[in-house]
Amino acid sequence: MAHPIRIYSTLERKIVDFAPIEEGKIGLYICGMTVYDHAHIGHGRFLIIFDSFVRYLRNRGWDVTYVRNFTDVDDKIINRANELGEDPFEFAEKYITAFGKDSSDMGLLAPDREPRVTQSIDIIQAMIKKMVEKGHAYTSEGSVWFNVRSYPDYGHLSGQKIDEMRSADEAKGKKDPADFALWKAVKPGEPSWDSPWGPGRPGWHIECSAMALDTLGETIDIHGGGLDLVFPHHENEVAQSTCANGARYARHWMHNGLLTMGGGQKMGKSLGNVINIQVALSKFPAEALRLYYLQNQYRSPLPWSEEALPAALSMLSRMYDALEKAEAMQGAEPIDQLVVDLGEDAKRVVELGEGFAERFHAALDEDFNTAQALGVVFELARAVNRFANHKKAKKRGGPVVAGAIAALRSLAPNLGLLQMDVEAFQEEVKDKRLADMGLSREAVEGKIQARNDARSAKEWAKSDELRLELEKIGVLLNDTAEGVTWRLRLTDESGS
Ligand SMILES: [Zn+2]
Repeated sequence: MAHPIRIYSTLERKIVDFAPIEEGKIGLYICGMTVYDHAHIGHGRFLIIFDSFVRYLRNRGWDVTYVRNFTDVDDKIINRANELGEDPFEFAEKYITAFGKDSSDMGLLAPDREPRVTQSIDIIQAMIKKMVEKGHAYTSEGSVWFNVRSYPDYGHLSGQKIDEMRSADEAKGKKDPADFALWKAVKPGEPSWDSPWGPGRPGWHIECSAMALDTLGETIDIHGGGLDLVFPHHENEVAQSTCANGARYARHWMHNGLLTMGGGQKMGKSLGNVINIQVALSKFPAEALRLYYLQNQYRSPLPWSEEALPAALSMLSRMYDALEKAEAMQGAEPIDQLVVDLGEDAKRVVELGEGFAERFHAALDEDFNTAQALGVVFELARAVNRFANHKKAKKRGGPVVAGAIAALRSLAPNLGLLQMDVEAFQEEVKDKRLADMGLSREAVEGKIQARNDARSAKEWAKSDELRLELEKIGVLLNDTAEGVTWRLRLTDESGS
């Protein structure tokens, strides 16, 4: 049985009960990438939010069909390819391939369907034909325009009036400034397809109406995307699909807030403030990036700062630490006696572990509040880390932390966090952070070995000096009975 959820509806401007067309099923359509450049961390936000949302829904028992498209022909692609003297289709293909790597490096689920505009031309034309037949569209000089005044609800989604709207499409041939292009007559140097209206290519908005119809049918359960797409893109999708299909288009509209740079600017190639996904992932594990996005409520603007990923990595490390410490605890005594013996900190871990699932799900079921859900996780991780400091915990804490381990392990299927082996995670952190600092792993480990040698030779002054040198570059040593281990100093979080 699928568990009921509530979601903020952009159309209704409030959180509503989610009601699917078919019991237990969700058809989810997300506007995907326009492939004319590499994905950047601004894109990462919508990619990770909806990826985590799909994981969560599935884990809550929903049968989700996840569709995310590629826009592989449009003005930006054609202009960029022409500038570089490349074939626009090959140019787009190159970035689809690059996105495949970004996507797997980010640990994204593969959508069930990934339609492309260039493979959807027939269905696009069929839909335009319907709109022309029904009087919602008109042709002019080889182009086809959508007549916004033929659709009385135009402007409802974005909350605007037609008289105040204007489409970005060039004015030539259209009757009203707000009318937008469904089909654009061919221009020199542009790719085109034959059509009943002459050679040309689809306008931007029609592609999603057509691909959604093709993959999910006339009415889709949830349509998602970035807040910047509400107008004109999604407003126009509603108008097209409703007029062509004669059915309600999307039952729920779900939009994520944007990542903003200094001064509230959005991240964009044209603004020159882009950080590519691959650059971020060369310095930080993918889960740190994921945690950064999920720590914030998805609808809020998310300001970017240099400290964002180091802080997220530090939080993530504490979660992995808690998991590692909990899993290292052994012992099988009855829990009541243990709690008495081990005191308040043990009691807290047991309570948080037992109450975890209810609080965690309550946060996510109410408009996918990952910020609040992660608050519950951090509280638990802190309690485990504190409990692990007790001498007796290591030998006898097993039953105390059993619930905590299950809770932390449940983050992988729900949100895509803590999916790695603790050790593999720690190794990845070392590799990526050292590389970012311009240090080689060999050099660091060579220095640690030199200190070990100095210690064996009882050269204490030299060994201390080497330890200090390592500490200066953020390498912290831990001398244990089994030998020396090391970790990197991460950004410190207060209050934990
Ligand atoms: Zn779209």
